Amino acid sequence: VLEINHLTKTFGKLTAVNDLSFSVEKGNVYGLLGPNGSGKSTTLGMILDVVNPTHGDWRWFGQEHSTDSLKKVGAIIERPNFYPYLSAGKNLEIVAQIKGAHPSKIDEKLKIVGLLERKKDKFSTFSLGMKQRLAIAAALLNDPHVLILDEPTNGLDPQGIIQIREIILQIASQGTTIILASHLLDEVEKVCSHVVILERGKTLYSGRVDEMTASFGYFELSSSDNDKL
Ligand code: ATP
Ligand code: MG
Repeated sequence: VLEINHLTKTFGKLTAVNDLSFSVEKGNVYGLLGPNGSGKSTTLGMILDVVNPTHGDWRWFGQEHSTDSLKKVGAIIERPNFYPYLSAGKNLEIVAQIKGAHPSKIDEKLKIVGLLERKKDKFSTFSLGMKQRLAIAAALLNDPHVLILDEPTNGLDPQGIIQIREIILQIASQGTTIILASHLLDEVEKVCSHVVILERGKTLYSGRVDEMTASFGYFELSSSDNDKL
């Protein structure tokens, strides 16, 4: 569904993403793993047409960039932002209208993220985890082929993290391709089938999660991160 070729982004003297190439096959969950500043968000920004690449290119669904193909991609790359004084359902109605999604999708997607019983509750009363789950429901409204998530469990408590991970696995099991940026090895191991490990913009490893060797220094860094959670 996605092929990235020699993607590079420089900011002045800093090379944020350095000659990154990988391809994403339908129905798998891809992790983009790396510490802070390794270029994960910059990579997602480029493939979503939000950040201009310095070099390289990519193809969504085998096509040269067309804004049409991005209609098949759902993404959450910022903190979820909804109208605080409107209900979850009303907020999704607005998103559905903007995306041209059928209103009948609202209950279906709220159910997937476990928020159907909270449909009438105001967004402002939601916990961070619920806000994040509502953002996932919103991203799913038009049944995207690919869902992109940038650090979806950041700031959540252990239960919130588990809920989000279960939702990701459930969405993937229904055939949606997922690309997930994370700085947690543990997260990638739990939900991803494939991983691209970045360090200062460079690829350290790209391949199946079950075939990666535990020989990278990064792994120690990552497990100490986990202890903080
Ligand atoms: P994090 O885990 O903190 O989200 P990340 O892997 O997503 O990190 P990026 O946000 O892609 O990393 O940043 C990669 C590098 O590029 C960092 O050194 C960052 O400071 C730099 N950078 C990102 N955006 C810009 C920008 N607009 N201008 C200048 N430098 C930038
Ligand atoms: Mg980031």
